[in-house]
Amino acid sequence: MRLIYFGNDYKYDTEAVMKLFYPAEKFEFFYCDDRAEALSLCGDGDCALMEKYLSGGMLTLAVTVHIGGSEESRSEEYPADTGDDLCKMELSKILYSCLSKLTGISSQWGVLTGVRPVKQVHKLTEKGLGREDVFKALREDFLVSDAKCRIAWETAETQRPLLEETARRGAKSFGLYVSVPFCPTRCSYCSFISMSAQGDAIKKLIPPYIENLCDEIRYTGRIARELGLTADSVYFGGGTPTTLSAAQLTRIMTTLEESFDLSKIREYTIEAGRPDTVTAEKLGAIREKGCTRVSINPQTLSEDVLKNIGRSHSTEQFFDAFRIAREAGFRTINTDIIAGLPGDTIESFRATIDGLIELSPENITVHTLSVKRSSNLNMEGGKSEVFENPASEMVEYANEKLSAAGYRPYYLYRQKNMVDNLENIGWAKAGHESVYNICIMEEVQTILAMGAVGSTKLMDTEDGRLERIFNYKYPQDYNNNFQLMLKRKDRIREFYAEKE
Ligand code: SF4
Repeated sequence: MRLIYFGNDYKYDTEAVMKLFYPAEKFEFFYCDDRAEALSLCGDGDCALMEKYLSGGMLTLAVTVHIGGSEESRSEEYPADTGDDLCKMELSKILYSCLSKLTGISSQWGVLTGVRPVKQVHKLTEKGLGREDVFKALREDFLVSDAKCRIAWETAETQRPLLEETARRGAKSFGLYVSVPFCPTRCSYCSFISMSAQGDAIKKLIPPYIENLCDEIRYTGRIARELGLTADSVYFGGGTPTTLSAAQLTRIMTTLEESFDLSKIREYTIEAGRPDTVTAEKLGAIREKGCTRVSINPQTLSEDVLKNIGRSHSTEQFFDAFRIAREAGFRTINTDIIAGLPGDTIESFRATIDGLIELSPENITVHTLSVKRSSNLNMEGGKSEVFENPASEMVEYANEKLSAAGYRPYYLYRQKNMVDNLENIGWAKAGHESVYNICIMEEVQTILAMGAVGSTKLMDTEDGRLERIFNYKYPQDYNNNFQLMLKRKDRIREFYAEKE
């Protein structure tokens, strides 16, 4: 589909709005200095024309959309000196209203298309706005529904005391991330860089990977100590770190505690996502080394759906793994589930939510599957149709039930390319919110990451500048180019020196 611009180049904002309605569509972009040329490009085939021009002393923002033979066009006038940011927002809203009229689709998040909607709430409250004014701004500026205003507001409220403590800990506090990108087998819906540890070739990769990871931990630890940086939280993610043996996990955790000062950390998480990797020996070992929070993920409590997604474990194994975690002494357990999995129904999803509430983990994280897989947006005979997307109803059910059961939303983010623009929400019982998840989502703290796929985020808390250092994505590349990659970590030293 063609996106044509006259008098503006608001590609980023308008493409994001287009993606709400046409997530799988590939767009071609045309920038015209001449209005006649822009108009001539629009009208032949599916396209959207975004215009900004002065006329009669006023600024006109106009959108014309042609989809499958149907046309919708709207325009608004503004004072001639209207700033760029406001123009982008207003043009996005005009485009949204045209597309909504043509397709019959509306998004509960309106034109708030970014990944982190809660940031917007924090920004507004920092300006001194109260609840009603924040709701008004979200509704009027971004067309957000009341339900989504409420969930974003509640999430921000839950986060506030934890973010205040993060601020108190200062610019030299950081989160530690250790990546173990291996899993016992690969789930069919997986979009992460994670390797099934089944084959011999991958099994051979693991011992040198652990050697290198420990070296990287020591190297980064030296820099952190030299700079006087203080660890605030630890997070082992992946993949599934518990794919490793108890001895391997102990080795990495020992290296970590020898290399960094962990005496002030608020939380220590290890993902044990796949129940088929959980044993009493492993959880006992990581508990002994100071891990306080584990994640054990059923994704669904339906056996049929588990088979559909190739998880190669049963619900019984999930319940066993959960019991083992409790017996190992874990007082904060997270369980991840996904709304909209293939073959899941409203009924089976409700049973999953109800079953988890009964089990009573301290955290329940409700993800939604990418719309590319969970729904069909089809163009036929010029009409855009969205077929049943049960994820919306599932998420609504989860929000209501979890809220009623005493869980509070504590972090929230959205995925791109979803027709219904749904969100992922971490729910927690009071006092069990994951500090690491909040800090990484709200981008308020440096993250020092180690291991393949790791991405270090250096955060200047004064001016909000964020700089990234990427590690190699795949374990083979990580092992093969290790010394070269290690040198990138020296940038941490320079970054903090520049701030002094
Ligand atoms: S457990 Fe998670 S990271 Fe591993 S294959 Fe499955 S979805 Fe991917």
